[in-house]
Amino acid sequence: TGPLLELDNVTISYQRRRDRVDAVRGVSLIIQPGEAYGLVGESGCGKSTLAMAVMRHLPRNGILSGGQVLFEDRDLFRLNQAELRRVRGGRIAMVYQNPESALNPTLKVGEQVAEVFRLHRALRHRPAAEAALDMLRKVRIAEPDRVVGLYPYQLSGGMRQRVVIAMALAADPALLVLDEPTTALDATVQADILDLFTDLRGEMKAAILFISHNLAVVQQVCDRIGVMYGGELIEQGTVAEVFKRPRHPYTAALFDCIPDFGVRKSDRRLAGIAGGVPDLAALGTACLYEPRCLISRQLCRVEHPDLMRAGSRHLSRCFFHAETPAPGAAARVRPE
Ligand code: ATP
Ligand code: MG
Repeated sequence: TGPLLELDNVTISYQRRRDRVDAVRGVSLIIQPGEAYGLVGESGCGKSTLAMAVMRHLPRNGILSGGQVLFEDRDLFRLNQAELRRVRGGRIAMVYQNPESALNPTLKVGEQVAEVFRLHRALRHRPAAEAALDMLRKVRIAEPDRVVGLYPYQLSGGMRQRVVIAMALAADPALLVLDEPTTALDATVQADILDLFTDLRGEMKAAILFISHNLAVVQQVCDRIGVMYGGELIEQGTVAEVFKRPRHPYTAALFDCIPDFGVRKSDRRLAGIAGGVPDLAALGTACLYEPRCLISRQLCRVEHPDLMRAGSRHLSRCFFHAETPAPGAAARVRPE
């Protein structure tokens, strides 16, 4: 069988008042059935834009301006409305960062989950209600018999996100897109939901596209990881490889932002990465990360690197990927 999802050289542009920006540029990646792929990067690097393209649910001023998104071997942007309805919320389900946006405030929890079973699984009223109750148990909602009768506003943030996850799973999707599913929650609830995903992965067959700015979260849930910077994929590899030895200086710097990751506390300097994110409206021909890079050289200022092989299943968009500092070492001061 072929890949489940294939992004081939995808570019996504937003029309703004005076100009157009390419928020995602030339991204190619493949997700196999059942695989969990984590996508990380700083705010504004294009993660949500990419996720919305996978749902073919771009903002009104956004377009796929280059490349293709293939899902189950079919061009997602060429499906007709009826085909798209089966895919969106059915074969592909998404959990957004903010659970409120996915819930209908006027419908009881049980009815909302049951509706997915009626719409996408063709269950009748009673069996759908029973399936909904089962699903709420599966996402470990305490007292599901009581919760089905509640409205979203009567639930805590963590419970609401569990309901949204139950709705996504109810469709029995082949691909589950999770866009920062725990960022809006406090730390202990976050940890509970991550444990839930880890356990669910054992039972379900859906592939996962897991978006996060947190590397530790991706490590817990995913098999492979892609790192984005300024709209580009700059590193990709198995979680084992990338965590053992990152091959892009940006990824190495991201590791240094995780408290206590492979660094003695006395060496800790970075709270974030020094310097700002690139202005997408004014890109030159250099490497996008060059202004912030600790190991950049002349070549990096004049030529934009392609993704290159840095290991058997490991890609890096850095000419000097072999010199990437080990996590921890990047906290040293930039040499002149
Ligand atoms: P975050 O971690 O903050 O969620 P992100 O990685 O999801 O960030 P996106 O939301 O995909 O980033 O945004 C990518 C870029 O596109 C940013 O520069 C953002 O300002 C821009 N952008 C996003 N949505 C629109 C829009 N509707 N119109 C114009 N520009 C947009
Ligand atoms: Mg986002």
